[in-house]
Amino acid sequence: MSFWEKIYLPAVLNGMRITFSHLFRKKATIRYPETKREFAEIYRGQHVLKRDEEGRERCTACGLCAVACPAEAIIMVADERKPGEENLYREEKYASVYEINMLRCIFCGLCEEACPKEAIFLTKKIVASDYERDGFIYGKDKLLEPLDPEKRIDISKRETKEVLEFKKDKSKKHNQ
Ligand code: SF4
Ligand code: SF4
Repeated sequence: MSFWEKIYLPAVLNGMRITFSHLFRKKATIRYPETKREFAEIYRGQHVLKRDEEGRERCTACGLCAVACPAEAIIMVADERKPGEENLYREEKYASVYEINMLRCIFCGLCEEACPKEAIFLTKKIVASDYERDGFIYGKDKLLEPLDPEKRIDISKRETKEVLEFKKDKSKKHNQ
């Protein structure tokens, strides 16, 4: 080492110069959770199981989302709708159990793309942290959107123009 390298002084001063120069730059960090960042419209966070306009569950337990899921994070149990339950479930079959393991999920959105019933969407909500693994198994109690029309989760920004056009066509069984 040269004399200057041996006394470390230039290296220390250079380090301090870099530190001080960062004091006057725009901070890369924010004070979360008091301050929150703007998310992109298509940010993929926690899932929601949607209801139709009449409040009936859209999911028919077809299993396509589970098949599409690369992380094998979705499981469900299908059940048959009984007479008198027409106001609860949109079609003859529904998911009596629907669970997503949020520790496995990679938020790829393939379940949303695979669903033919517009029953599952990813939202901007961040999955909450937990101390227990069990806390990350989200069932219908956490996934299903509220019945109250005021509290429904708006996913219209996630739908493409083509889908929105298609939904206007009431002759299609999908839209009835
Ligand atoms: S977002 Fe991707 S990984 Fe997560 S449940 Fe859906 S398909 Fe599976
Ligand atoms: S969420 Fe959609 S794809 Fe998944 S089981 Fe229900 S209807 Fe089928």
